[in-house]
Amino acid sequence: MKAITIQHPHAFAAAAALKPCENRGQRITHRGALALHAGLRLSSHPLPDPAATAAFARLGGPDRLWRPAGPDAAAAGPSLLAIGAVIAVVDLVDCHPAVGERGRVCCAPWGERWHGAAARPAHHLIFSDVRVLPRPVPCPGRQITPWLLPPAVAEAVEAQLTAQ
Ligand SMILES: [Zn+2]
Repeated sequence: MKAITIQHPHAFAAAAALKPCENRGQRITHRGALALHAGLRLSSHPLPDPAATAAFARLGGPDRLWRPAGPDAAAAGPSLLAIGAVIAVVDLVDCHPAVGERGRVCCAPWGERWHGAAARPAHHLIFSDVRVLPRPVPCPGRQITPWLLPPAVAEAVEAQLTAQ
């Protein structure tokens, strides 16, 4: 299974089905199942949507982020707030170059025109059919997109999807 690492609170927003668009600096050809991996670090970019910001705060916000100890650890916090773990699986249904200019970019409010410190033209990854994992699966993340889950992690993720 392919995966994407996203930092909170953006990982939370995507897994809560509040953020259907993720920005990357290159086109992604993969379609279908994509594991959402929440990185260990908190993003310095706030959520651009007040409703998603409020939902993150209601769940406890940055203070409630938690790190699952191992593959069999009992959930110590909300799945949506786990870090260093796969927290959900989505379908990646589209990836298109950003269209429009400042203030009028497609996929508002989530779509960016430029991405990252290098300000590369942004591509919008569109998520659908979010499935949250009852037990987040710990795993180191990767910066490339997408990356391949280690077999044991993919197995643990797929077992939970089957059980749902
Ligand atoms: Zn778009």
